[in-house]
Amino acid sequence: MPRVTAVLRLRRLLPLFIALLSALWAPGARADEPPPPPGQTLTEAQFELLPAGEPERVLLPDTWALRGVRDGRAVGRYTVGFDLTSVPAESMALMFTRLSTRHRLWINGRPLANQAMDDAFGNPGFPRPALLELSPALLQAGHNTVVIEVVHAQRAGLSSVDVGPMVTLRARYLRHLLVSVELPQALNMACGGLALLLVLIWRRRPSEVALGSFGVIALVGSVRNYSYFLDTSVTGTALWADWFFFAINVWIVALFGVFAQAFAGQRWPRYRRWLLGLAIVVPALGLVATGLDRLQELRGYAYPVLIGTCLPGLWLCLAGARAKRPWGAVGPALGMGAMVGAGVHDYMFQTAYWLPMTETFWMPYVMPVTLGIISLALVRRMVHALSEVEALNTELEARVAARTRELELANAAKTRFLASASHDLRQPLVTIGLLVGLAKDRSDSPQTRQLMNRVDEAVGSMEGLLTGLLDLSRLEAGAVKPDPGPVRLAAVFDAIDAHEHAAASLKGLRLRFRATDAVVWSDALMLERILRNLVANAVRYTERGGVLVAARRRGGRVVIEVRDSGIGIAPEHQQAIFQEFVQVDNPARDGTKGMGLGLAIVQRSAAMLGHRIGLESALGRGSRFWVELPPAEAPQAAFADAAPGDMPDEPVPLQGRRVLLVEDDASVRAAMIERLQAWGAQVVAAHVDVPSLEAWLANLHQPAPDLMVSDYRLPHGDGLQAIAAARRRFGALPALLVTGDIAPHDLARLHDAGLRVLHKPFRPEALRDALLEALLAAEDAAETIAPPC
Ligand code: ADP
Repeated sequence: MPRVTAVLRLRRLLPLFIALLSALWAPGARADEPPPPPGQTLTEAQFELLPAGEPERVLLPDTWALRGVRDGRAVGRYTVGFDLTSVPAESMALMFTRLSTRHRLWINGRPLANQAMDDAFGNPGFPRPALLELSPALLQAGHNTVVIEVVHAQRAGLSSVDVGPMVTLRARYLRHLLVSVELPQALNMACGGLALLLVLIWRRRPSEVALGSFGVIALVGSVRNYSYFLDTSVTGTALWADWFFFAINVWIVALFGVFAQAFAGQRWPRYRRWLLGLAIVVPALGLVATGLDRLQELRGYAYPVLIGTCLPGLWLCLAGARAKRPWGAVGPALGMGAMVGAGVHDYMFQTAYWLPMTETFWMPYVMPVTLGIISLALVRRMVHALSEVEALNTELEARVAARTRELELANAAKTRFLASASHDLRQPLVTIGLLVGLAKDRSDSPQTRQLMNRVDEAVGSMEGLLTGLLDLSRLEAGAVKPDPGPVRLAAVFDAIDAHEHAAASLKGLRLRFRATDAVVWSDALMLERILRNLVANAVRYTERGGVLVAARRRGGRVVIEVRDSGIGIAPEHQQAIFQEFVQVDNPARDGTKGMGLGLAIVQRSAAMLGHRIGLESALGRGSRFWVELPPAEAPQAAFADAAPGDMPDEPVPLQGRRVLLVEDDASVRAAMIERLQAWGAQVVAAHVDVPSLEAWLANLHQPAPDLMVSDYRLPHGDGLQAIAAARRRFGALPALLVTGDIAPHDLARLHDAGLRVLHKPFRPEALRDALLEALLAAEDAAETIAPPC
């Protein structure tokens, strides 16, 4: 519907538009126009070539070259006459559609206009519209004689002469001036601006040769076209102005050849050489010819050559347009064709042997139109390119979003896989760990013990992997919340020394901790884990020499460094080793050589704490890992962060303790019962799920157990519910939750519950220690609240 309305509106506007155009171009044809003004058009004159030509009768408009007068620069004298019945009251005027800008006029023997006839004044002598006022004082009743002397650069002659009232002729003169001078000047000025834009674009994108060469053509051409219509020569004298126009025409043709090749995407080396030669030689010849005052002659030879040179270019343009679909390229090709056509026309007009001097140059009109077409094509191309870029961007964004979603899904799948894989792996591992411990305790045969030791080793390395995975996923799940405070480094160093000393001595290495009284602001547990990983690596990757751990103050910070004299790390691996499962020299993924998780844990823990870590190393020359932390004030009270591992060396035995067990996995349950009993504990009940526990609790007639151990993942309900049920019955029952889960969600839940948790797989000692800790904590709590005796 809106389209139809727009068409209707356009159709209504069309007559208005036509009326406007006809007012501009053919005002005489309007029906409502007042009758034509009184006046006459003089179409006959007497002509003589000065100084000594024979007078002859000519018809106006008169073109010398068409009459065989070759020397356009001679002075020509025209005499015309008109009759008046009386001397008019108002000023009259003489109007010429073409009068040389170098002219002199007399009316009835008295001078009327006296332009410089000498080209030294820079007047180019171009035929232009002219309007001369005839004041009544110069006129007489009866016959009036007008003598007109003209000099030209070329295109010599005179248009017909109109005589009439000033008011009427002025309007007609202004219209002529508008169409034949001001309009092309304005068009070419705009053309120059557009061309400059194209040239600037070309500067930014030198690959756009077609665009750039056309820009230069249009720029040079519009300067030339514009100056065609100036009263004064751009070069000072008319002679040199003539050379200037000549040279510009040659260069335009050469550039046209360059444009055509770029437009068609073809390179014709011979044509290029020809164009280059043309651009240099012909203007140079023009200089010589101008010096000898024979430029017009040279034109006669040079212009046909120029037109010939354009023909291959034109062919290239057409071929290029044919090859380039869609039709966007046809416009520019036709435009260039029109320019060549206009060039031929202008050549014929310029030399004036074929066309009357009242003609106009076509190029000043054709070139701006062509440039407009090419600019349109350019704008379309740019808009198209921009839309393409936008579309690409949107597509890219969509792709990135899709890929991110895929990655998130993959990551979630990985986490799920790890969680369930490690849960399923942990169950048998716990069983094996417990049973191997028992078997070792009970075996008297050295061979069996040796065998059990090897099984224990294998279980240990698998445990290492699972523990590493668990640590990483706990970090990822945010289940580990740093609890920063002042940490005395000496205590951390001692704890690490206690753990790593044996391994270092076994390899004959010196593990030294430089004494320090530094106190840093960190999380004691996490810092210990970071340093322990670094020290364990240092020991593992050093065969000779030793490992030194030292803390220094540097620039208001404390830097802890772990130096070793080991194998070192090549620069290309120094970043990658901080990623999970990256190991430099373990292609067979031998578990006893580590799992490639230690440094990933170090990096994530350090990032959570805001500690910077770094590495300097050279192959074969050892490594230096460092951690930079903020210092802290030493606290007055005892350290809340007593280094971990401060477990009592001699655990209180579990002898006689009554333990309630909830574990769904039969093998783990059996191994646990056996292990607990071996430690002297009494397992009062072992349940597989929450309902069976609840049923047992409801009918219980025995004394309360001392301790409860429950698995987290149970068939009906979970460990948290089991512990809660038991506590409802027995009050503050010490409890330990064991779990093989590493799913971030479950870990976060356990963390929030604030229960004592032991992660599967665990060594028997770890189970024992955790049980004792739970008992001790409960006894401590009971003592604090019990009234003093
Ligand atoms: P893991 O030690 O379990 O293989 P890490 O993440 O701790 O895994 O270390 C990754 C890799 O970085 C190691 O396999 C080892 O090649 C290299 N690396 C770590 N620390 C050192 C060190 N002190 N000296 C030489 N290489 C090391």
